[in-house]
Amino acid sequence: MPIDFAGLRQLADASAAVAAPCSCNDAALLAWQAVPLSLELDQFEEVATLVDDPFAEPTFDEFHPAGTRIDSDDAPIAPRYYPYNRSHVARCGKCGRHYLRYTEAGGYFSELRMRALRPQLLVEAAL
Ligand SMILES: [Zn+2]
Repeated sequence: MPIDFAGLRQLADASAAVAAPCSCNDAALLAWQAVPLSLELDQFEEVATLVDDPFAEPTFDEFHPAGTRIDSDDAPIAPRYYPYNRSHVARCGKCGRHYLRYTEAGGYFSELRMRALRPQLLVEAAL
């Protein structure tokens, strides 16, 4: 079951309220990027998913009404759109901040990407 929008907002708000310094926050994952080597994967626990149906391929459409790009710091987080519709929510076990993660699969590689879940970017946009 994917997390609903209200639930996602709660996790984002909880994340924004964390003030403690942490290696995950130092990594400044404002935009999507490959998970930096400075972060240990076992530092994070998956707590929710945005994947609606694991047997269906969700859309590759992106949501950028203000002209942002997929790798913009201020690109909206619209759960039904790419790549959020393939993402899981991970919580840092050290500080409690939340992140989105998905695996970008190209022809010859796959890469785990990560982005901070920030409440001011959340948009509940229908497809
Ligand atoms: Zn952390």
